[in-house]
Amino acid sequence: MTKKSFTIAVLPGDGIGPEVTAAAVTLLEQVAKQSDVTFQFTYGRIGGCAIDQDGTPLPEETLQLAKAADAVLLGAVGGPKWDQNPGHLRPEAGLLGIRKALGLYANLRPATMHPSLVEASSLKPEVVSGVDLMVVRELTGGIYFGEKKRYQGADGAEVAEDQLIYNEAEIERILRVSFEIARKRNKRLCSVDKANVLESSRLWRKVADRVAADYPDVELTHMLVDACAMQLVRAPKQFDVIVTENMFGDILSDEAAMLTGSIGMLASASLAEGSFGLYEPVHGSAPDIAGKGIANPLATFLSAALMLRYSLGLDAAAEAVEKAVSAVLAAGHRTGDIAPDPSKAIGTAEMTQLVLDELAKQAVAK
Ligand code: NAD
Repeated sequence: MTKKSFTIAVLPGDGIGPEVTAAAVTLLEQVAKQSDVTFQFTYGRIGGCAIDQDGTPLPEETLQLAKAADAVLLGAVGGPKWDQNPGHLRPEAGLLGIRKALGLYANLRPATMHPSLVEASSLKPEVVSGVDLMVVRELTGGIYFGEKKRYQGADGAEVAEDQLIYNEAEIERILRVSFEIARKRNKRLCSVDKANVLESSRLWRKVADRVAADYPDVELTHMLVDACAMQLVRAPKQFDVIVTENMFGDILSDEAAMLTGSIGMLASASLAEGSFGLYEPVHGSAPDIAGKGIANPLATFLSAALMLRYSLGLDAAAEAVEKAVSAVLAAGHRTGDIAPDPSKAIGTAEMTQLVLDELAKQAVAK
């Protein structure tokens, strides 16, 4: 039988990006060894390293490489070396550029509390233990992309305007992605808006109710964004999947992420139409620890798990990676960012090997 082959564009970026993506590639190679798939890895530059070598944070070659792949795995970009550059020559311009060029409209940010890390949260253990939710944020519409204006008002005072526009099609596609995700999880979807004040939210709610008819197996509820912000810290276990517009999602996804503690553990996915997606850890390039071999690779491993599930349809492999990460944490192994006792912290290579060893015990194919 010929093995199914997937092409993954790896964009390591700057700082710890190359260290954590290299670790994730060894993890994916192990997944391939244990299953009936193969991965072809292609490599491109993005961010500061691309500015240095190609004179632009997003070379055309990188974009073509990404478009030719089944999915993209990205490390992180940025660092002090490029901080004073003009806007178009800053590493972040590469990130915004690739998201736009690839049409990535749905941002997925899971917040999962690993039982052994409960103490790392700033909330009470009984509130956060068992938290397992996903925030789906609309990424290409809303107020961040609306027309912006500055002008002098009639009374001479300066006025600023930001337009918030959503059309039905934009709302429908993010709702459909969210219902599909809820189907793969615990079948509960909470749509968050500000329908008591905003017209765009009233349209959002109407579309959500209409789309819900196609997903009778998923329970849809609505919540106002201010209530959701409170409920996330009061009783976060009530949530399975939260879907919301761009600006609300920006804020709520960071709030939800902090329920679980460390930045070194947080994964993300950005999906386009079809199954294509870009997967990256939430953290930045961590220039303070780059090159020291101590970066936590788990956020990138968990991002790779999202890639296996949402772009490659390899649900069993995704689950196996997540279980392997949980098992290593449960056994008490910690990198410096999550270690209560820094003298016992392990490095990137050791953490990677431990996860590979755990993965070897798991069934990665159905
Ligand atoms: P950061 O996430 O890079 O680091 C914040 C702190 O967390 C640092 O102390 C760092 O050492 C630590 N940390 C982060 N990831 C870690 C990991 N995997 N293991 C262990 N410790 C980890 O945020 P920052 O310091 O504000 O930004 C540094 C650079 O990264 C800046 O240039 C910023 O613009 C860029 N940045 C990029 C992205 C991205 O590529 N998506 C996101 C955020 C920041």
